[in-house]
Amino acid sequence: MSKIVEEVLAANAGYSADFGDKGALPMPPGRHFAILTCMDARLDPGKYAGLAEGDAHVIRNAGGRASDDAIRSLVISHKLLGTNEWFVIHHTDCGMETFNNDIMADLLKSSLETATVDASGWHDIGKGPGSPEGCYINWLTIADNAASVVEDVTRIKAHSLVPNYIPVYGYIYDCKTGQLVEVPEAIAAGKAS
Ligand SMILES: [Zn+2]
Repeated sequence: MSKIVEEVLAANAGYSADFGDKGALPMPPGRHFAILTCMDARLDPGKYAGLAEGDAHVIRNAGGRASDDAIRSLVISHKLLGTNEWFVIHHTDCGMETFNNDIMADLLKSSLETATVDASGWHDIGKGPGSPEGCYINWLTIADNAASVVEDVTRIKAHSLVPNYIPVYGYIYDCKTGQLVEVPEAIAAGKAS
């Protein structure tokens, strides 16, 4: 067994030993809201937003982007599980700001192994083979943090499966301070109507 699997299972044994009455929690989120945020390891939505088990839906992907799949989850979150306020939370120093579709496609074309990054950008050092499949994916990278929050809130609000009475709030999490900073243009775009 890998060291990581051992560590995860040991941590889980402790968690489940102290599970208390959480086994009785209902499926729908008790506080009726959802957060779409980045998968970045420095972000802990449970902590930065004060969540306990059963409180809220947290949907995560690279960048916290409003991809088709993120919208699929949000629609389920409201339609079947009753959330009625949503947050889009991107963050400072996001890895999605460090590349674009062309860079990612080129790296993958050369090899599938982990690339390196320095001041001059990303470099592929893997031995290959790579794959051209990366050319066909929109990686939903980020050129401007606030603009990406506005873009995602706007896309969610405009979606035909999203009712207009759901407010969508746009924030940027500051990795240096742990603070959530409002994006005023996103808050305006996300207002319920
Ligand atoms: Zn990120």
